[in-house]
Amino acid sequence: MTYETVIGLEIHVQLSTQSKAFCGDSIEFGNAPNTQVSAISLGHPGTLPRLNKEQLNYAVRLALALGSKVNLRNTFDRKNYFYADLPKGYQITQDAHPVCVGGEIEVMVEGKPKTIRIHHVHMEEDAGKSMHDSDDPYSYIDLNRAGTPLLEIVTEPDLRSAAEVDALMTAMRQLVRYLNISDGNMQEGSMRCDCNVSIRPLGADYYGNRCEIKNLNSMRYARKAIQYEVQRQQKIVEAGGTVEQQTLNFDPVTGVTSPLRSKEDAHDYRYFPEPDLPPVVLTEQQVANIKKEMPALPWEVRQQLVAEFQLSDYNADVLTAEPEPAHFFLALVKATNSYDAAANLMINKIMPWAKEEGKTLAEFPLSNKQLAAFIALIEDGKVSNSIAYQELFPAMLGTPDQSAASLAQSNNWLQSDDEDEMGSWVESVVAAFPDKVKAYQSGKKGLIGFFMGEVMKISQGKADPKKVNQLLRERLG
Ligand code: ADP
Ligand code: MG
Repeated sequence: MTYETVIGLEIHVQLSTQSKAFCGDSIEFGNAPNTQVSAISLGHPGTLPRLNKEQLNYAVRLALALGSKVNLRNTFDRKNYFYADLPKGYQITQDAHPVCVGGEIEVMVEGKPKTIRIHHVHMEEDAGKSMHDSDDPYSYIDLNRAGTPLLEIVTEPDLRSAAEVDALMTAMRQLVRYLNISDGNMQEGSMRCDCNVSIRPLGADYYGNRCEIKNLNSMRYARKAIQYEVQRQQKIVEAGGTVEQQTLNFDPVTGVTSPLRSKEDAHDYRYFPEPDLPPVVLTEQQVANIKKEMPALPWEVRQQLVAEFQLSDYNADVLTAEPEPAHFFLALVKATNSYDAAANLMINKIMPWAKEEGKTLAEFPLSNKQLAAFIALIEDGKVSNSIAYQELFPAMLGTPDQSAASLAQSNNWLQSDDEDEMGSWVESVVAAFPDKVKAYQSGKKGLIGFFMGEVMKISQGKADPKKVNQLLRERLG
């Protein structure tokens, strides 16, 4: 029997607001434990939450990008459970009326587009963090994260493989970064997902029982967890059993999923409307204003690079994977019309610079004007491509206050178009290789490449290759 894997995701995105969802505490990552905890974060009785408007704003931005229906009247609910890192004893979430309903996103899976439908997106808040293995037998609790604003994106069960999960997580990370609502950083926990996995006979029109693997915080783990889970379920079905609906934990060390709880003892969260927060009602006008101020979406920018600047699909993909290089490129092509050259410079020099230096592109030391002048030197044949990339560019980075032209001049990197000088280089090569000249003249025309190479060598790369070629052919007859 051939089986098909069916997966639906619940993706938690930590928003990059200044402060928490319902109070003014900072949400900055990595600070000393329990330093960002006011009475509200600590869940003291008698405190009152107040919605951070940015959270709602960000949710609307995401809804507009996904083509979801924006719910104008937003209400909140309490999701009750007891855990040490949840001081209030409940999370504030949206159970009955999520802010976004429906929508979809297109992802690329192994070069082919696939549309994943979105069930809904709701606002909620994060819990604190428990650390169980830092000081046995004690557990520690850090409440800095408690109350951090989250969006939970719930997809329809449209995914069919770990590769598609990977593609969706990559696309979501890219989208939230373009929207400027989250850094999408999985390592720091800004993006995590629960994977609902089931199998069914290929071609079946029903779904099998699903298991939910909780809190996967890296794509590598998600891939492994799904692989393991699919095999586990197949074994059960092939032995004539039924998969039990369960919530699972994945252990990255052993690579094995294990039950946290089964359907029977599933949490009863006793949802009820949050009495301390009044409904927040958006007007159509407010939504229209958010739409007007929407940043460009990744697929729009990609399309622009291909249509307006004639970049190859490959170059467009590389430049738009992250928003920073895409925006850098769009600013650069305001200074030059050599779009391909600008793309190549970005991909081969400027983006690697940021990576090697561990800096952002905002810190790149050369202005677009300087970069445009550099590109013009190559395009006009004043400096050879290899000298420009290998010598001139590093020199410009070393002395950003000097122009490309003056550096090329003072270092003697300008390509020679002086006919006499080039003539003399050609002469000396011809004189040095009489045998090769004879061979060329008796028909081995392929030797032209050899002569070219020799001339370029003694000119130290400065000879204009087109002219040299022409002079050589004239001289050799
Ligand atoms: P619940 O309300 O019990 O949490 P939902 O219907 O909201 O369940 O589904 C939660 C997630 O599980 C969604 O992402 C959905 O796509 C996914 N899902 C639902 N049924 C299946 C299934 N049979 N196999 C895989 N994923 C599923
Ligand atoms: Mg659910």
